[in-house]
Amino acid sequence: MKKLPPRTRKVRILATLGPASSSEAMIRKLYLAGADAFRLNMSHGGHEGHAANIEIIRGFEKDYGRPTTILADLQGPKLRIGTFANGPVTLAKGARFRLDRDPTPGNQSRVALLHPEIFAAAHEGTRLLLDDGKLVLRVQSVSDVAIDTLVEVGGTLSERKGVNVPDVVLPMAALTDKDRRDLAFAVEAGCDWIALSFVQRPQDLAEARRLMGGHGQLLAKIEKPAALACLDEILEMSDAVMVARGDLGVELPPYAVPPLQKQIVESARRLGKPVVVATQMLESMIKAPTPTRAEVSDVATAVYDGADAVMLSAETAAGDWPEEAVAMMDSIAHSVEHDPGYLDRLHFTKTMPDPTTADALAEASQRITETVTAKAIVCFTSSGSTVRRVARERPSAPILALTPRVSTARRLGLMWGVHAVRTRDVGSFEEMIGKSKRMALRHGVAGAGDKIIILAGVPFGTPGSTNVLHVATIRGDELKAHGEGEG
Ligand code: PGA
Ligand code: MN
Repeated sequence: MKKLPPRTRKVRILATLGPASSSEAMIRKLYLAGADAFRLNMSHGGHEGHAANIEIIRGFEKDYGRPTTILADLQGPKLRIGTFANGPVTLAKGARFRLDRDPTPGNQSRVALLHPEIFAAAHEGTRLLLDDGKLVLRVQSVSDVAIDTLVEVGGTLSERKGVNVPDVVLPMAALTDKDRRDLAFAVEAGCDWIALSFVQRPQDLAEARRLMGGHGQLLAKIEKPAALACLDEILEMSDAVMVARGDLGVELPPYAVPPLQKQIVESARRLGKPVVVATQMLESMIKAPTPTRAEVSDVATAVYDGADAVMLSAETAAGDWPEEAVAMMDSIAHSVEHDPGYLDRLHFTKTMPDPTTADALAEASQRITETVTAKAIVCFTSSGSTVRRVARERPSAPILALTPRVSTARRLGLMWGVHAVRTRDVGSFEEMIGKSKRMALRHGVAGAGDKIIILAGVPFGTPGSTNVLHVATIRGDELKAHGEGEG
């Protein structure tokens, strides 16, 4: 087994796979450069390609002895244009462009738009925003089969780009037939997270949850204004959320997004639900080996906000510099997390523990960590829920999550400050302490003389029973005693 240096970074990096990153060699490079979790974008590629990537990623578990995390992102009722016969086209301002219901590949003057909802709702004057709003078309006339437009803001348009229609309300269901097929595939393939796009109401999540049948965790992408009105209920119904700034910044003016990012991150953190900040984080690195200073600042802001994860989209999926983009994100995160004021800033967001023993201990573990300068919080967990509560407190020490369940270990890869290890349950208090010390040593988070905090549930192996907080000190002679083996 190859040895990986311990990852000291708190914020997680979620890297999207695509044509630029579909070889084993490149996915491995992304992983080694710091990608903690991989996103399969169901809007692109077929099940065969995704299955091949899943196999590659899971292979790293054997190679490096660390759980991997895979998120399948369902396209949702995202409106997209069709394909082009001869690659991308360039639309000039003032030109005419037709969107029609003919599925054949398009050209300079037309492209397919296979969404009857738009033909029903659009009228003269409606704006069609293409490719995250980069191009703007103004509707001139609409028939049952064609929408004729004038190009108001031109540019290069490549196939399958998104269409937003912010001026009219489109009756859209939360899950399309394609989403149902993709969800079934993701569940079957054992993906750890399933992301639902264009969530508008809490009920949208119920159907996905039912179809998941207890497999995987559900992430709600916040990218519609409607979702903001019921954010707390959506947070309650989901296991995590994403600030999906691409579509959010098209549906709403771009300057509305930064305050919303802060509000969504804060709401999610209060509830202890992981939150991902996504889209255009290092956009210019699609084409260049270095980002703009403003992009670096944007990534840093998400890290300072206390997001659990930051995401790369086209930078790793379709860019020229995928590995460099991950490495840059890793460096930015390290830089912020080494700022002496970083944790103090994070703790501006006050979290209120629920009146449960597990929450009380999770909260206490953070304060004790700071008081005795503990080097790790070792957390025995079955479902991961205690780990989630500990991570919510944003402690300075790494959270070492020990779980017998591979599904739990894998899903924890999206969570702030957590290092998950799959290992056998312990049966006694002595074993608990011994294993905690061994694991802290083996994973390089503590050494001789260091204190560690242990959270567990007695009787051992009973899910949801966290009721023990123990502070242990690693003795010098324990350094040598920790053997290899399963532990
Ligand atoms: P997408 O979601 O990349 O699937 O569109 C993210 C976003 O809209 O920001
Ligand atoms: Mn989106």
